Amino acid sequence: MMTATTIIGFPRIGEKRELKFATEKYFKNKISQAKLQETSRKLRKHNWELLVRAGIDEIPSNDFSYYDQTLDAAFLFNLVPQNVQALPFSPLDKYFALARGYQGKEGNVLAWPMKKWFNTNYHYLVPQLNQDTQFKLSGDKIFKEFAEAKDLGIITRPVLVGPFTLLKLSEYQNVTAADFVNDAVAAYQAVFERLAAAGAQWIQLDEPSLVKDLTAADQQLFNDIYRPLLAAKGKLKVLCQTYFGDVRDVYNDLISLPFDGLGLDFVEGKQTRQLVSGNFPDDKVLFAGVVNGKNIWRNNYAKSLARLQETQAKNIVVNTSCSLLHVPITVANENFAPAVKEHFAFAVEKLGELKDIAAIYGGQAKEQLTANQALFAKPRVQEDAELHAKIASLKEEDFIRQPARKVREKIQKKEFNLPLLPTTTIGSFPQTKEVRSVRRQFRRHEIDQEQYDDFIKGKIDDWLKWQEEVGLDVLVHGEFERNDMVEYFGQHLSGYLFSKNAWVQSYGTRCVKPPIIWGDVKRRHPITIKWSKYAQSQTKKLVKGMLTGPVTILNWSFPREDISLKESTLQLALAIQGEVLDLEANGIKIIQIDEAALREKLPLRKSDWYSEYLNWAIPAFRLVHSKVKPETQIHTHMCYSEFSDIIPAIDAMDADVISFEASRSNLEILDALKKQHFETEVGPGVYDIHSPRIPSVDEVEATINRILAKIAAPKVWINPDCGLKTRGVKETKASLTNVIAATRAVRRHL
Ligand code: GLN
Ligand code: ZN
Repeated sequence: MMTATTIIGFPRIGEKRELKFATEKYFKNKISQAKLQETSRKLRKHNWELLVRAGIDEIPSNDFSYYDQTLDAAFLFNLVPQNVQALPFSPLDKYFALARGYQGKEGNVLAWPMKKWFNTNYHYLVPQLNQDTQFKLSGDKIFKEFAEAKDLGIITRPVLVGPFTLLKLSEYQNVTAADFVNDAVAAYQAVFERLAAAGAQWIQLDEPSLVKDLTAADQQLFNDIYRPLLAAKGKLKVLCQTYFGDVRDVYNDLISLPFDGLGLDFVEGKQTRQLVSGNFPDDKVLFAGVVNGKNIWRNNYAKSLARLQETQAKNIVVNTSCSLLHVPITVANENFAPAVKEHFAFAVEKLGELKDIAAIYGGQAKEQLTANQALFAKPRVQEDAELHAKIASLKEEDFIRQPARKVREKIQKKEFNLPLLPTTTIGSFPQTKEVRSVRRQFRRHEIDQEQYDDFIKGKIDDWLKWQEEVGLDVLVHGEFERNDMVEYFGQHLSGYLFSKNAWVQSYGTRCVKPPIIWGDVKRRHPITIKWSKYAQSQTKKLVKGMLTGPVTILNWSFPREDISLKESTLQLALAIQGEVLDLEANGIKIIQIDEAALREKLPLRKSDWYSEYLNWAIPAFRLVHSKVKPETQIHTHMCYSEFSDIIPAIDAMDADVISFEASRSNLEILDALKKQHFETEVGPGVYDIHSPRIPSVDEVEATINRILAKIAAPKVWINPDCGLKTRGVKETKASLTNVIAATRAVRRHL
């Protein structure tokens, strides 16, 4: 018998990001709703047919989404707030209103908050449940898409966020998850019935929340949902699909409950092999996730084969480790040399791998196995022996800056003589159409280096002058030369590759194109010195040097797998260390090293936070700045202030100053900082830069006073939440003018 293949989900944006462009046009009223629906229908058809052609045996549906699959589930189950339901809009427009917020003649609707989808760079909308929420089946997207595929002659397996994960991811006001169990069970059961009646054989319930550390109450919730739900599943077969880790806390429940299939992750699930091996029931199908759904590298067939064999499971379907949503669509659209290309597998290429592995597992396709083994035996990159030796010889003291922060603080206060509550910004100023167009012209060789440099100089001059006039204390050059805070650095490092079309959905219509770490990473030449030095030469005030830190560069790249993340990060840290020391040697006295994405790759299980991540990520950051002089001030910046649970680790980065996003989370972090005696000087963002809204002087003054109620004035800096590159010039100037006025007003009372 042939072993079957499947996937958990396919990217929905389209090879040319058709969905993104059509949706954005629709938002701007440039195309009709019918046209957008037609584009989306074409994309679904294209994907289903692609899967059929690739020979994938079991094909998912409802993995398509106009915005987000969690929001889809919320609409399916009537979780949408009253004020959105009441809008006199089409269902699709209500959906977009809740996704993006609506402000117009029909009123004012706040978008649901967005959060990172587990340990990925994808963001989902967080359902907000309260006493008015009536959990019941009310939507029909899942049925429509099943019927759409059926009309094409394809019987699909509809995919839906599972009830446990949906309830775990939601946020509650005056109610709890337990209050919704009965209604949720009835609602999912209604979905089962309708799908079975429509001719579906299977449903896939995505339950990634099962891979986190589960409390006894969580396990109870899981059982309270699934016992009654599975008892009433009728003839529909239910696949419980997990990913991003292993299910150690509920494995025994999973195998004893009457699920028909279990989807387990053999890539990120550290204990999956151990849990399953010789202990998988014969009456269930094991959907074995052996092809990595997150990386861009080819699968090692011999390893996957061994993983399948050691399960000793009777019924296996070869699967990806998670949805292919998290990888770009195809290598076919890239210009890499053949010797490079052969190492990559994006979504489409992974389909071929699933087929190969299934065939090899069935005792066929020997040549594919041999070819794959030859690929992995080939040395892919030339190792930089000198760099490896340098990293191997790093000593404890290389990670420790001297003297201690308290001592440095005194030295720096004397050296800089800044007023109390020094004001600054996070780095970038508005990247206007003009800025982006000039950078594009330069890239296309339409203007020469001199013309380009003159333009950048002009921008720096203008903004330095404005910063001086408005009265900011520590200035920035504005980052006009940078397209992106990771790609810009990658372009100046050896070991990096850049794709043309390898886009991955981040949220809604926003996609990112992470660069690829191909080999050993070294700084090829000075990167930021020219512009920082120029800016500092134009003003008597201090200008901050602006760098991206090693952990963020790593987290926003596709990493290597032939060396550890720790090793790659240390390589990046040494590269950025070179840049820090160069800036210092060139007279830059304050250097900001952004770690915007530090929290992002924190492992899903708390028990792994330090051992698997922070224990090397934090030292890597320290390595970057450990060799600077005591009077050089090191700043760092983090997006999101959700770090109240890792405050000691953030303090241990040993920066002199940290700025972070705080205004949207209502400055909640301050209590935790105070309680845990945070030592680093802090600049909690005093206004939200994600919105064009201009904060009033009074508002900012009140915010500063709230900060001062928790943190001693000599420790406080005043700055916006994040960089200003996405903002317009007018609102940026107006906002910062108010920030300065507010700061001055507060200073008068200190
Ligand atoms: N220095 C960067 C900027 O201002 C920081 C961006 C970020 O934190 N995402 O744009
Ligand atoms: Zn930021």
